[in-house]
Amino acid sequence: MGAIDPVSLAQALIRCPSVTPAEAGTLGVLEQALRPVGFKCWRQAFQAPDTARVENLYARWGEGDGACFAFAGHADVVPVGDAAAWQPEPFAGEIRDGHLCGRGAADMKSAIACFAAAAERFIARRGRNFSGRIALIITGDEEGPSINGTKPLLAWMKQRGERLDACVVGEPTNPEALGDMVKIGRRGSLNGRLTVHGVQGHSAYPHLADNPIHRMIRMLDAITGEPMDEATEHFQASTLQVVSVDVGNPATNVIPASARAVFNIRFNDRHTSDDVKRWLCQRFDALGAIPENVPASVGGYWVRWVAVDDEEAELAARQTAHRDQHAGQLPAGNDARTRPMIRLVTRDAA
Ligand SMILES: [Zn+2]
Repeated sequence: MGAIDPVSLAQALIRCPSVTPAEAGTLGVLEQALRPVGFKCWRQAFQAPDTARVENLYARWGEGDGACFAFAGHADVVPVGDAAAWQPEPFAGEIRDGHLCGRGAADMKSAIACFAAAAERFIARRGRNFSGRIALIITGDEEGPSINGTKPLLAWMKQRGERLDACVVGEPTNPEALGDMVKIGRRGSLNGRLTVHGVQGHSAYPHLADNPIHRMIRMLDAITGEPMDEATEHFQASTLQVVSVDVGNPATNVIPASARAVFNIRFNDRHTSDDVKRWLCQRFDALGAIPENVPASVGGYWVRWVAVDDEEAELAARQTAHRDQHAGQLPAGNDARTRPMIRLVTRDAA
């Protein structure tokens, strides 16, 4: 049994350029570290329609019927952006001034390496008398659509009778020092895509047009003007951030036909995603918006809902580790989330 050095294992993982959905060798590196310790490893690839194939790893030590302690994480990373702007290189896994640098060093290859090393040390100390089990659940599309990772892997585990009793998610959540924050759940996340349709026209004759930008500004103001709520015992206040406003209008004298915005809401355990959608509806409705399937004009324009799109998913933040005792369930976090997407459209009645 070779001792696992968490730093060199983290370096080896960083050197695999596993930008979602690429596995890029990460799981092999991890398996090579875990197998000598006595872990059994299962690779599971999943591919939902219209998505990329994603490889995942389930590794378990121990055959006993004692409690199972699991660690969940993802081996994929977000893209590097402009690779030439990196110093040191994003996938070099270099140590500079005592800091391990590279894409995934924080989120979250170091956590995976630390867990493997911790498990190896624990087993070396008391493994043979230890009746419990230790598991690693390592997924590959947390930074992507998050549908070919944790959820199908948990279903596969359940089918095999793999039970979890406690689980730590190794996401980087400590703002200052290691251990200064332990989270017991994850906020919900909901993306909204707002499209406002108006009537195109010349800016010199605005009475013949209907400016969708003006309408959109009022709608966005209605949802950003005041806080959604207050913090709860375990979670900060919910937040709403407009992340994109797009018109694509190259002219200075044309009122465009439509405008688009995207916003993201991170909500705490006061809400479910349905609550959040209702909250949005109320504010948009107050501006004269009505759902798409109501064929009426209100105040010269109408709003339509264009269905909820399940492109992303939401996880109720309330689904926290200490409350969720179901066998085979992960605590809230990682990619076990579902984020319904709302698409809103306002349109002139004329
Ligand atoms: Zn992460």
